[in-house]
Amino acid sequence: MTSWLASAQDSPFGLHNLPYGVFSTAEEPGRRRIGVRVGDAVLDAGAAASAAGEPSELLEAANLNPLLAAGRPAWTATRASLTRWLTDESHREALTPHLHPADAVTLHLPFEVADYVDFYASEHHATNLGRIFRPGTEPLTPNWKHLPIGYHGRSGSIVVSGTDVARPHGQRKAPADELPSFGPSRRLDIEAEVAFVVGAGSELGTPVSQADFREHVFGVCLLNDWSSRDIQAWEYVPLGPFLGKSFATSLSPWVVPLDALEAARVAPPARDFELLPYLADVEGEPWGLDIALTVRLNGQVISRPPFAGMYWTAAQQLAHMTVNGASLRPGDLFASGTVSGEERETRGALIELTWNGQEPVKLADGTTRTFLEDGDTVTISGTAPGPDGTVVSFGEVTGRIVP
Ligand code: CA
Repeated sequence: MTSWLASAQDSPFGLHNLPYGVFSTAEEPGRRRIGVRVGDAVLDAGAAASAAGEPSELLEAANLNPLLAAGRPAWTATRASLTRWLTDESHREALTPHLHPADAVTLHLPFEVADYVDFYASEHHATNLGRIFRPGTEPLTPNWKHLPIGYHGRSGSIVVSGTDVARPHGQRKAPADELPSFGPSRRLDIEAEVAFVVGAGSELGTPVSQADFREHVFGVCLLNDWSSRDIQAWEYVPLGPFLGKSFATSLSPWVVPLDALEAARVAPPARDFELLPYLADVEGEPWGLDIALTVRLNGQVISRPPFAGMYWTAAQQLAHMTVNGASLRPGDLFASGTVSGEERETRGALIELTWNGQEPVKLADGTTRTFLEDGDTVTISGTAPGPDGTVVSFGEVTGRIVP
């Protein structure tokens, strides 16, 4: 399968990927359109559909929500149409005017985020944080290996990659302090995560099984769950994360379709006991994903977290968050939790990389970091294996800390 678009050849944004986003141009900054990344270009998907003689209301929308709501058959048909338009030479002339250079467009949040859930699925991350926060006790809580632990986050403060992140203010209290103080966070951190975009909704009262994962999940993004460790440490007992997380969460602009990730599917780690039936690993239908993340601080690689080793899969997380009958809505987003591997250089948060600030990260300019300073830029990128030796790129999620 070859595209008539030269830059699509051997590109991690080739026909095997075709991620969806929302863009505007310098000429029409107020008009948001659905775009599909292909090679070095962004295809104006709605205009392309019309030019191909197959107008589509789903692709002419200002964001992905109508397409998300339309469900799996529409997603499959739309992807097939895009592939056909980009391979069939007869569409070349009509579609070419609707290709925009990828570096010339402005990318926006690709969909209106409905509910947002964040999980905690890396055994290495959970173990490291257990050791840091609760020294001398068992690092994993007794429930950790039996259910995917998560919390409901704040969807309204999810921002697209490239948005500056203002250092949050809040209550901080170190263990040695007698009373809390108020001011800017001194321990601002990142969490490198993979996020799943829900398309088709579900009925209140009806759980979604792992077998129906593909019917409900549209695609995958990268996410940075910015975290204020000093605000978090003082507020999180007994109800969990609150203002230490909700000030900003950055999302990558391209949603990689689940269909592009077939070759990346891997089995999660072996369990040493049997999970309850609704969470049991499904033989032959693994939903672990071999996504390799790279975390850069001011351009320098500080970590390479491997998503393949996560203890809980997204299918198990989806089954768990609906098992009580909670319903799904188009645009729901759920994130994996910090992706951390076993070795130090694969940890997905500064609190682990620097072991709570005790072992600073050295940067090329001679400075060190325990937590983020104003002006720091953090960029998380990701790739996965595609079909026939290709590479699927997720692009990146980036953000700069401002006072
Ligand atoms: Ca998180």
